[in-house]
Parts: sequence; C-alpha cells; structure tokens
Amino acid sequence: MNPNRQRSAMIHCGINGNHFKPMKTKLNYSELFVVLIAALLAVTGCKSSNQSCCMMPGCMAGTVAAAVQTKESQTAMTPQQALAELKAGNERFVAGKPLVRDLPEEVKATAAGQYPFAVVLSCLDSRQPIEIVLDQGVGDIFSARVAGNVLDDDILGSMEFACKVSGAKLIAVIGHSNCGAIKGAVDNVELGNLTGLLAKIKPAIDAVPAGVQPRTTKNDAFVQVVSEENVKLVMRQIRERSPILREMLDQGQIELVGGRYDLATGTIEFYDRAAK
Ligand SMILES: [Zn+2]
Repeated sequence: MNPNRQRSAMIHCGINGNHFKPMKTKLNYSELFVVLIAALLAVTGCKSSNQSCCMMPGCMAGTVAAAVQTKESQTAMTPQQALAELKAGNERFVAGKPLVRDLPEEVKATAAGQYPFAVVLSCLDSRQPIEIVLDQGVGDIFSARVAGNVLDDDILGSMEFACKVSGAKLIAVIGHSNCGAIKGAVDNVELGNLTGLLAKIKPAIDAVPAGVQPRTTKNDAFVQVVSEENVKLVMRQIRERSPILREMLDQGQIELVGGRYDLATGTIEFYDRAAK
C-alpha cells in the first residue's frame, strides 16, 4: 500500500480503534497535504467510521453519493432531471468514477419506504447489470429485466405501479448490442416457453426496412437495427396498452425514453422521443 494513502487512511479513520495512533506535532509538507485531503473528505461526507471506504483505492478520488431518494427529492425531480441523472450515472460508470456508496447504510435508510425516480426495462443479459451501468444505489430505480426487454401485462402493470403509485418520473427501455434474444428471434429458435417470448420480438424484425440485407444473424448491422426496432416497439406498446401511463405521458407527469447499451464500451445511447 502507498505509505501516504495508508497514513491518510489512519488519520481519516482516526476514531477507529484499529487505526488510532497519536499524531505527531510537527508535519512535513507531504503530511500536511494528506491531513488537508483527509479533512476535505470528512467535510464532503466520506464517513470516518467506514473503514471499508477509507481503505478503498478509489476513496481518495471518489465523490460520495448523496442521501437516498426521499419523498421530497422524488417529488421535486422532473422527468427531464430523471433522464439527466441516468445519463450522468452512465457517464460516471464509463469513466470508472462511480459515486462512493455505503450500501449497508442505504439499505437501512430505505427500509421504511422507497421513492425511486425511474423504472427501467432492460434485458436479462448478465453483461448489462442495470443499476451498476447507470451507477444507481439502493432505492434509486425500479428494475424489470427479461430476455429481449420485451413487454407483457405483468411488466406493464409493474410500470403502472412504479409511476402512478410510487411516483417514478421516467420509464426507460434499454436494449443492448449483440443481444442473444434478438438473434434467437431472427433465427426462429423454438425452445419451450422461450418460443413465446421470442415471438414478441418478431414484429420488430418485420419493421426493419427491406433494404437492410442480408436478414440473418451473420449481419451485425441487421441484428442491431432489429434491437433498436424492438425498443421502439416496446415504447409504442407501453403507450398503446396502458391508458394510465399514456395519460401521464400526455400530461407531462412522466417521460418515456429508449436506449441502447453497448456491451463493448459500457455506454448507453439514449434515443430521442421520435418513437413515442
Ligand atoms: Zn439481450
């Protein structure tokens, strides 16, 4: 471990019994700098009692997450601000600078109630862990995940609960590159209950312009366009099949966006409202 970081951690965690050591009365410049940084971290909220935070390599440079969502913070947030937060979170993730979180504390703080600002429908794919790639904490977003990010009545009902009952301000439908469910639909895979799931994607295949050839999974560009059409299809279905959400959208109480997660870069490209 870097000696300076170790010393900083000792000072930072000075009230922890394992780390407490008497401080010298005279400090050289480098030690004075460490003391100032430690004081700054304490002021910005990096908890001195949190040993794991103190000892994490990213602690010195990380920005500490704000408190968990409350009824007040959720109510004050607009749909546009909710989208901006998702974009900012993904940018933090891609930059390798996620907020410093005390997850056990977030668990305690949200135990009595939840006030998420968004509901996100994304794919089952293990490479798209949505809270992580959006850098969100406990109680920040509702998350529905199913292969191919398809819509059914249960997920639609969940979205109605999220927005109408719980006050979420944004619905985001996030597909991703190289999606196995999309490829399965293109290849007409039939397997148990998966057959019915993949059938929900077929209209997205039909929506791809005839000029996009060849229409096989060997053509990455075609698979990508099908994935984007599938997100737009789900966005349309949300409006068409839920009078509750359609009314909230029309009144500007919530917003609906689509997006594409890139498995290779971790970046989410959010689509505009053209598909609404
Ligand atoms: Zn997928």
